[in-house]
Amino acid sequence: MINNKWKVLILFIILSLFMSACTPKEKDLEEGEPELIRERQSVLGGTIGQIHGYSVSPDEGKNAITKAYQRINTIENTMSVVIEGSDIYKVNANAGKGAVGVTDETLQVIKDGIYYYELTDGVFNIGMGTLIDLWGISIQSSEQSQRVPTPKEIEFAMQHMDLSNLEINGNKVFLKDANMSIDLGGIAKGYAVDEAARVLKDHGIKSGFVNLGGDIYVLGPKPDGSHWKMGIENPLKNSETPSNHVIAGISLINKAIVTSGDYERTLEGTDQHFHHILDPETGYPTKNELTSTTIIANTAISADVLSTAVFVMGLEKGFNFIEELTDVEGIFITKNKEVYITSGIKDEVEILDSSFKVVN
Ligand code: ADP
Ligand code: MG
Repeated sequence: MINNKWKVLILFIILSLFMSACTPKEKDLEEGEPELIRERQSVLGGTIGQIHGYSVSPDEGKNAITKAYQRINTIENTMSVVIEGSDIYKVNANAGKGAVGVTDETLQVIKDGIYYYELTDGVFNIGMGTLIDLWGISIQSSEQSQRVPTPKEIEFAMQHMDLSNLEINGNKVFLKDANMSIDLGGIAKGYAVDEAARVLKDHGIKSGFVNLGGDIYVLGPKPDGSHWKMGIENPLKNSETPSNHVIAGISLINKAIVTSGDYERTLEGTDQHFHHILDPETGYPTKNELTSTTIIANTAISADVLSTAVFVMGLEKGFNFIEELTDVEGIFITKNKEVYITSGIKDEVEILDSSFKVVN
């Protein structure tokens, strides 16, 4: 599997959990009291997966978590752009040539991608694979593949990302444009989180969470009925900030929370700002006043997509867009440490670092 330096960078910025939930010591456990089972695994080409679940039976708890990881691996094997033989790999390899049959779930994620393309006015576009590839920033590409393309290359790629060239017929998917490709990097991780949470539930886990490199779903309240307390890491942290420096906290039950950020840095040997969220209007990494966007929603797939989309839209447009959606909330953080919180969670966010100011 390709070692993914991006994922390490992503962990650098993302949400962290207040680990108030420590494993109770065996001797402290009353009979029947649920124990917290925790497993970490490397998934999705290098993302650190973290799945925790409370269970009265450690064996059953472990089994549930193992099954959840298997589910994530299956999704990776069908939706990855780089794994030869995956549905998406085959669709891309047959662009301009012919239709490819895909699984029901790949089809569903593609259809969800089209839905969000329309909802976001093309800001979120699963048909940008050629452009993403040019920059070398697909979810599983190594740091070595990253580079700043020439304006000519960017211009070319931008002519080949029109989603109306994606044709669906039953379970068959056809890219009519031979130079176009699909990239599910901004949506499949959220889908995998939802599915892993569903597997936990199906195996009797009522309380726990799934965290795939910052895409998180929290299941139920904790066994004592309390909320899961989630933290948002300082997106502007640098070598002087302590690691896991949390700037805000929020309490959640049965919700997804996903952060997108710019992880901004300069590519060696260039003065080009470089990160992994592309603005389809310019073909370049998004550049605006924002440094991170956090979305809280009922599903991780929607939170994953929308955090990326509003990051591209920018503060004003992105904020208003989220305010219009029901059951979706957002926390927007600007490069100059201003925090904007949507109305539905305004009173629930606790700022923990006073250098960040809520201004709306
Ligand atoms: P993370 O990997 O941190 O969760 P995102 O959810 O923001 O980050 O997704 C970034 C990935 O989505 C990129 O690596 C790329 O594959 C893809 N991507 C980048 N820009 C866009 C965009 N405008 N629309 C759809 N997908 C995008
Ligand atoms: Mg994401």
